[in-house]
Amino acid sequence: MIRIDNYDFSGKRALIRVDFNVPLNERMEVTDATRIEAALPTITMVLNGGGAVVLMSHLGRPKGEPSEKFSLKHIIDTLSEKLGREVTMATDCIGEDARAASSKLRAGQVLLLENLRFHKEETSGDEFFAGQLAEHGDCYINDAFGTAHRAHASTTTVAKFFPTDKMFGALLQNEIENMNRALHSENKPVLAIIGGAKISTKITVVENLLDKVDDIIIGGGMAYTMAKAKGGRIGDSLFEEDFLETAKMLYEKAVEKKVNIHIPSDTVIADEFRNDASTDVCLTTEIPDGWMGLDIGPKTMDSFSSLIENAKVVLWNGPMGVFEMETFAKGTVAVAKALATATKKGAYTLLGGGDSVAAINKFGLSEQVSYVSTGGGAMLEYLEGKTLPGIAAIED
Ligand code: AMP
Repeated sequence: MIRIDNYDFSGKRALIRVDFNVPLNERMEVTDATRIEAALPTITMVLNGGGAVVLMSHLGRPKGEPSEKFSLKHIIDTLSEKLGREVTMATDCIGEDARAASSKLRAGQVLLLENLRFHKEETSGDEFFAGQLAEHGDCYINDAFGTAHRAHASTTTVAKFFPTDKMFGALLQNEIENMNRALHSENKPVLAIIGGAKISTKITVVENLLDKVDDIIIGGGMAYTMAKAKGGRIGDSLFEEDFLETAKMLYEKAVEKKVNIHIPSDTVIADEFRNDASTDVCLTTEIPDGWMGLDIGPKTMDSFSSLIENAKVVLWNGPMGVFEMETFAKGTVAVAKALATATKKGAYTLLGGGDSVAAINKFGLSEQVSYVSTGGGAMLEYLEGKTLPGIAAIED
């Protein structure tokens, strides 16, 4: 397999799949350029090697047709500024205009194609569409970890058109190396922390992680379906009835596989879903009607922190409570701080997913953990041991 650091880019156009799916405010300004910054090393490697760059990405969910709101033109100033050179833009990702623009690129020049998801063929992984994308490059680089678990045209199908000249970008390579380090660590205990709103979206993750870890912490809204499965009263907390049986099955499987599942023993409850609601603390299994659990309680913060600080490998995805509201952010802060402490004590700590990354950035702790992944869903699928189509397409 070719590596980006020993490929000769001189005189070549590199077609790079990046992840420029950045947040924009109502004035269509980029509010967090982390993903743009993360793509710079790969772009710079191609340019320094004497090549030209054609960038392709999605932005938001435009439903397969052009939409002003999701145009990548909103990010071009930020990209040019961060890269320190002018970036030109094509009005579409395929067709005459895009082909004309990419075919006349010279070494050192950078072209950004318009949002891939303006065409429904992108998400369906259409081969003809992928072939049209492939015309823009002499080699293909995938540097978008966030979409590596999707078999889309630009992440997977397009690689077929570059049987030899295909490779991972520096960011994706680094992601894979870090995930592998966590997965294949000889050090124990390995602890996974899974939080977020719904158990339905993360149930397979938890199930598959049972084969990989010694302990699993389940926090956030998901914890209440787990508490109910244990016969608890959860008041008006988030509850997914359809997943009650699955939650029971998880406990049984965990016993079989000798994995400890930890849910919060106490909970911060509120009478309304508002930052200034009345609050109280009670056992997670004794939440009164009319109240809902919105964060882990103080005893749980202590017990979860001590689990984290005594682990040798920690994987974290998903907040412990409704951390967007100050009143219910304390549990997520406690977990973020415990990750930093564990790292200082020599543990390997890795986190991903929009909310966990936002939380760690908000509390200024991102430099104090081992690795912050740019993928949420992709990170979880990789850690579950699944083959990600975007990775397989390069390795094949
Ligand atoms: P997810 O997208 O599944 O990772 O869920 C993230 C969301 O879960 C965040 O927006 C949190 O506010 C929300 N969340 C976390 N804990 C709770 C809870 N106890 N009740 C309701 N929502 C929650």
